Amino acid sequence: MDKALFIDFANELGIKYLEHENLSKHTSFKIGGPAEIFAKPSSIEQTAKIIDFCRENNIDILPLGKGSNVLISDKGIDGVVMHFGSEFGKITLLDDETVYCEAGTGLAALCNFALKNELTGLEFAYGIPGSVGGAVFMNAGAYGGEIKDVIIYADHIDKNGKTGRFTGEELSLSYRHSAYSDKEYFITGAAFRLQKGDKAEIRAKMDELLGKRFDKQPMDKPSAGSTFKRPEGAFAAALIDQCGLKGYRVGGAEVSTKHAGFVVNIGDATCSDVLKLMDDVKEKVKEETGYVLEPEVEILGE
Ligand SMILES: Cc1cc2nc3c(=O)[nH]c(=O)nc-3n(C[C@H](O)[C@H](O)[C@H](O)COP(=O)(O)OP(=O)(O)OC[C@H]3O[C@@H](n4cnc5c(N)ncnc54)[C@H](O)[C@@H]3O)c2cc1C
Repeated sequence: MDKALFIDFANELGIKYLEHENLSKHTSFKIGGPAEIFAKPSSIEQTAKIIDFCRENNIDILPLGKGSNVLISDKGIDGVVMHFGSEFGKITLLDDETVYCEAGTGLAALCNFALKNELTGLEFAYGIPGSVGGAVFMNAGAYGGEIKDVIIYADHIDKNGKTGRFTGEELSLSYRHSAYSDKEYFITGAAFRLQKGDKAEIRAKMDELLGKRFDKQPMDKPSAGSTFKRPEGAFAAALIDQCGLKGYRVGGAEVSTKHAGFVVNIGDATCSDVLKLMDDVKEKVKEETGYVLEPEVEILGE
């Protein structure tokens, strides 16, 4: 891409950006090469301008939230990585039981906002280290709850710069899937319907679920959460464990000894290490159990 052109454009509009930004700083795996441009829009207007500019100049754009469900190539990402971060994280109470938040809002911030306003319904999401945009994108869920249960609508801008909104069925939410999965849209915000609840009970539920995570998951090591999706009729972690793969390593990547469903970065793991380890795990699981594992973590870049 013509970086100088982007830089002139961004400076003129006051859009914050970084050049050659190492994406390992922006992923929970702590893996990923540089982004040619790492743009940090702070409003829908800036987001729309970046989309228009990139379309007109044939530049690829990759939306990124908290980077907690991605495995980014060691070579990095060409073009623009559009980061929906804290600059894009406003939360508003629309009425007594409806919360609207911008896409860069962290799920922890959203859950704490709900708690403060004595609203129940989002406790399941406490401890999922993603942004609202990333959570809607893949219908994040845990402990019997999912985004589908609480979302009313999501707002977006499409690749042609047109703003829009998906509600209910249009969102097409199912297990780790949404209408946004085809990557044609940039999610800018979402509204959630919650219910009035008891603050102490909400707090207790959040603490209980977070405690379960600390008990069962390798929260002390960089990862991208569950590496593989749940195959029909089985659990990926149980299959991997059954094949004796806990602790299996390739370079700095390891099948967690605490939870076989997680691949963790135990040192300087590269994307290639993780990909090789995932291939080995898939092969062994298929050979020994017949199940074919599909990645849950999104592999991005070449
Ligand atoms: C320790 C750990 C535990 C986890 N536990 C869970 C769990 O219990 N349940 C669960 O569902 N997940 C879990 N995850 C995975 C992850 O946190 C969730 O998938 C989360 O919703 C991803 O959000 P994110 O902002 O990090 O998305 P990212 O990783 O930044 O992006 C994921 C995908 O969403 C797209 N995207 C992000 N933001 C936007 C946007 N604004 N517009 C359009 N596309 C966008 C990206 O392009 C990418 O394709 C866990 C991860 C970790 C590290």
